[in-house]
Amino acid sequence: LNPDSFAGESSAVVDFLADYYRNVDKYPVMANTQPGTIRKLLPEAAPELGDSMDRILDDVQRDILPGLTHWQSPSFFAYFPANASTAGFAGEMLSAGLNVVPFVWTASPVATELEQVVVDWMASLLGLPERFHFKGGGGGVLHGSTCEAVVCTLAAARDRALSKLGHEGILKLVVYASDQTHATFQKGASIVGIPPANFRILRTSANSGYGLTATIVQRAIEEDVARGLVPLYLCATVGTTGLGAIDRVRELGHVARRYGTWLHIDAAYAGSAAICPEFQGHLDGAELADSLSMNPHKWFLTNMDCCCLWVANPTTMTDALSTDPEYLKNVGTTSKMAETVDYKDWQIALSRRFRAIKLWVVLRRYGAAGTRAHIRRHIQMAEWFEHVVAADERFEVVVPRNFSLVCFRLRPRFMADKAVEALNRDLLAAVNASGRAFMTHFVVDDKFVIRLAVGGSMTEMRHVRAAWELLKEKANDLIATGC
Ligand code: PLP
Repeated sequence: LNPDSFAGESSAVVDFLADYYRNVDKYPVMANTQPGTIRKLLPEAAPELGDSMDRILDDVQRDILPGLTHWQSPSFFAYFPANASTAGFAGEMLSAGLNVVPFVWTASPVATELEQVVVDWMASLLGLPERFHFKGGGGGVLHGSTCEAVVCTLAAARDRALSKLGHEGILKLVVYASDQTHATFQKGASIVGIPPANFRILRTSANSGYGLTATIVQRAIEEDVARGLVPLYLCATVGTTGLGAIDRVRELGHVARRYGTWLHIDAAYAGSAAICPEFQGHLDGAELADSLSMNPHKWFLTNMDCCCLWVANPTTMTDALSTDPEYLKNVGTTSKMAETVDYKDWQIALSRRFRAIKLWVVLRRYGAAGTRAHIRRHIQMAEWFEHVVAADERFEVVVPRNFSLVCFRLRPRFMADKAVEALNRDLLAAVNASGRAFMTHFVVDDKFVIRLAVGGSMTEMRHVRAAWELLKEKANDLIATGC
């Protein structure tokens, strides 16, 4: 690494990206590429000799950008956002540039301690109970994704239960989720050895806005306990992936407490909204949970990747995940005075990134007020969109909006259900093929719904208005041609 060429080449990349952001709204939002095209374009083997950064960036422009789906486009309304920001990028640059590997305290003391500070800051900003703060006996960690975080909590819950039941008890352990819970919980349960039949998917309905209620969980747990099974783990989601539904945390917490069941709150997307006091109520009852996670990389101005996981009792986590090789013993955690942690014992891998600096730069640069304004801006745009959809008699809002996600469909009167589904599939395909916006879909109660998730850092009201105009234009075309 030569510091002089580092400066020149890195600033060429920054200039390239600045130009990309200036023009990102000119690219088709969803990549318009046939499978295999990009693989055919590139050589079969890596080059023997290195190339200049200028030539590499030319190739990025020519070969790579056309194959991208542009997540930072202001007209990207698909999935949930992965919002970038200047501070998120600066923090990512610092993390990548310093390139330390803080798996234990001595491996980079400030990286560990800064992580402890920023997860406590975040816990305060989101109004989380004291028990999730380091100073309250709990603590947090930064993972790359909710999926990793969930596996760690499942392993902790499993080992806590097996320490009483003995290892053969694993066949009795049951994990509860709803039909709206993210698929990662099923994968995680399987990774930690829960028998597939013991992953219980509980049915939700429109009556509760597709949120999980205590009655549903209580009934399932009672049945299982009567069969000699052990209710291990319950996932409550605040802001489900498909519909943005909200499980009733406090109710579920009481049921979980009654049976000694580990309660995890998955707030991957909507957790960011809790920076605004008016949304903190959705986490009411969090003091009854054992763990909680949210992804700043979705909606908190933090570039990929960053997931905050908090646990109320870190020993359950470290009992399940710690290793103790001689070469990693260090004064930071062996000294009696230590208030620090070895984060290798809070995650799956040994090596880890210095994510704390990224989240710290975001918090320093925008402050809580800046982040609140970012969230509220998106929610206002989603409110407007929900309103115009509801006011157009050809469309319907399928579930009431939560946060910045609107789920809707085209529903001309007198059309059969099957035809409505085909119509909406065609509508979504036409919108996405236009390149002017990108949305995705979900299916609930056999209804095919289109999801519009507002969350891009560069998304403004005019982009949401344009998306609505585009939907109406394509709907008119389809209706005029008799679909
Ligand atoms: N949980 C919810 C509610 C999500 O919406 C998502 C992703 O969209 C996840 C979990 C998975 O998050 P990750 O991709 O960080 O593993």
